[in-house]
Amino acid sequence: MKVSRRSFLKYCIASAATIGLDLSVVKLLEKALAAAEAPPVLWLNGANCTGCTVSLANVVAHAGALDVGDLLINTINLTFHPNLMGAAGDLAVTTLFDAAQAGGYILAVDGGIPTAFDGHTCIVWTDPRTGMEVTALEAVTELAGGAAAVLCIGTCASFGGIPAGNPNPTSIRSVREIIGGSTINIPGCPPHPDWMVWTFAQLLAGLSPKLDSSGRPKELFSGKSGVHKKCPRKEVDGKAATFGTDGLCLKKLGCRGPECKADCSTRLWNNGTNWCVGANAICLACTENGFPDKFSPFYRD
Ligand code: SF4
Ligand code: SF4
Repeated sequence: MKVSRRSFLKYCIASAATIGLDLSVVKLLEKALAAAEAPPVLWLNGANCTGCTVSLANVVAHAGALDVGDLLINTINLTFHPNLMGAAGDLAVTTLFDAAQAGGYILAVDGGIPTAFDGHTCIVWTDPRTGMEVTALEAVTELAGGAAAVLCIGTCASFGGIPAGNPNPTSIRSVREIIGGSTINIPGCPPHPDWMVWTFAQLLAGLSPKLDSSGRPKELFSGKSGVHKKCPRKEVDGKAATFGTDGLCLKKLGCRGPECKADCSTRLWNNGTNWCVGANAICLACTENGFPDKFSPFYRD
């Protein structure tokens, strides 16, 4: 695929403050992108709804046009992505195998990994060399071994998420449980596009983000700017007794903001338009390990 990274750099510089990128990181990124080919990104889908990719597609630059095509296809060396790539079938899989053989790639996985029935509820491709179907379980296990970094995109890949919710008939596991090694988790149902771009930028700049005990970048999930801590409804007198009451705290209606470390209340979603509580919905703590079962039933104190 074509690799031209000026637009990514331009985006990072223009959006450094918004996405939380230190300018020193932007400088490193500039150097890395000028000096050499960025490592290829191999993006696998496990049991997912594709919402993480849709969320990433919501990236819109503040300076000039930048969409997911610019960001991933023309900017980051995205070698394999089942939803975004032009190639399909044997050609696509062969491209992935070639990149995997060279090593040093970033493996991004969205979706949980089914383990029941030997993983055969989630087939990712047919191996053109053998004609055999390959499961997400096999693909992730094999590709994680040669990866420079393994990114879990979304709560399903990070912790199991909704597909691993009770009764979990296909025995979904997180990527970390499957590979038994370290992963960088960018949870969220879906994750905010800024969180994904920030993490890609760190890795392309040659940095390793510091992680919390749940494998999340501390910079993004410190809790200092957690949902409840920075919620504009925190200091407001009175609690909402019913939905549709603008401006009042939703705790009595089941808001899980106090248990959630994401920075949605200040970052906002849809390019700074609004966020869950701002739209009078509760926070479901969708970025936390154990979501959804740990926080269910929703809509109740
Ligand atoms: S609405 Fe939720 S996040 Fe906001 S103050 Fe109330 S409990 Fe905290
Ligand atoms: S406010 Fe809560 S439920 Fe909404 S996106 Fe953020 S972490 Fe998820």
